Amino acid sequence: MAKLYVLDPYHPDALSKLLSTPNLTTILPNDPAKQQWKDDAVAIMLRSETRLTEADIAAAKNLKFILKQGVGVDNIDLDAAKKYGIQVFNTPALNSEAVAELSIALALAVARRVTEIDRRIRAGEKIVRSKMLGRSLFRKAIGIVGMGNIGRVVAKKWIGAMEGNVIAYDPYAPEDAWKNNSDTIAHTRVYQVEELLSASDVVSLHVPLTSSTRGLIGSEQLKIMKKEAILLNCARGGVVDEKALLEALKTGEIGGVALDASDVEPPTVEVYGEGLLSCDNVIMTPHIGASTMENQSASGIAVVDTLLKVLGG
Ligand code: NAD
Repeated sequence: MAKLYVLDPYHPDALSKLLSTPNLTTILPNDPAKQQWKDDAVAIMLRSETRLTEADIAAAKNLKFILKQGVGVDNIDLDAAKKYGIQVFNTPALNSEAVAELSIALALAVARRVTEIDRRIRAGEKIVRSKMLGRSLFRKAIGIVGMGNIGRVVAKKWIGAMEGNVIAYDPYAPEDAWKNNSDTIAHTRVYQVEELLSASDVVSLHVPLTSSTRGLIGSEQLKIMKKEAILLNCARGGVVDEKALLEALKTGEIGGVALDASDVEPPTVEVYGEGLLSCDNVIMTPHIGASTMENQSASGIAVVDTLLKVLGG
């Protein structure tokens, strides 16, 4: 009987589908036996929490399938998986609406100082409204770095909700990606990220973490941005140089930041209390882009469906 180990938490809908599948032994994430997955797992299901190194993959002699809920696979040594003939599956596009929704929510929350004002009220401050003016994002320009599944949904939502322009930078998107189809998104395409940075009121990052995107936004790039611009990173920690970011915030080079992805996750007061979290115009969330009930259920079930297909075939 095939043995599956679920290494990270999955939505109950996905787990109950697994448990009702015949001819499959499933070890659930809260079972201490999961530590032994390398001994006999044929398949493993994970999310972002588990990191798979070459040593892990080499040690798992029966492993045939790695299934990842979500799109980013930077926590898996893909070269090692290829070397050992293990197939890796993810769930592209499924979480795009959820991540795009959070990106827009964070942009508005920074612009209107929502979390800062809420914090002040809770601390007992009597708010003087005239001192808490925010900025409107209506008809402002968003610069989207990475026009893949999530970037495009952000673009659509921005045009629909803000009536603003979209500036897009994605050197790897196929030339015909947005041309001549009903899904075409009105945008200005730029070929240098600097062009996008200098013209955008909000800069939203939607790239994978790769050697070409690590440190993509550093001190040079932050200096190019408008002084009142908002930077959003709902992609991956590492894409933004956090040291340079703190410096830019302290010197007023940019207007505000929201990070759903950070070098250290989840972000804590111990790590960021004297740094990014000491700035009123910063919001940090712990990689919750895909964390809606609707998406967790749908994406978890999609992983299970893929598993059943590959095991059946
Ligand atoms: P996708 O593969 O559909 O799109 C990524 C796009 O980035 C592609 O079009 C690619 O050409 C482009 N790209 C790659 N390198 C680039 C570079 N150097 N400069 C500009 N563009 C570049 O992926 P997606 O579904 O849109 O997701 C994007 C990323 O968002 C994921 O890789 C993941 O890191 C992150 N993500 C975060 C969360 C979260 O919870 N915050 C959830 C899902 C995904």
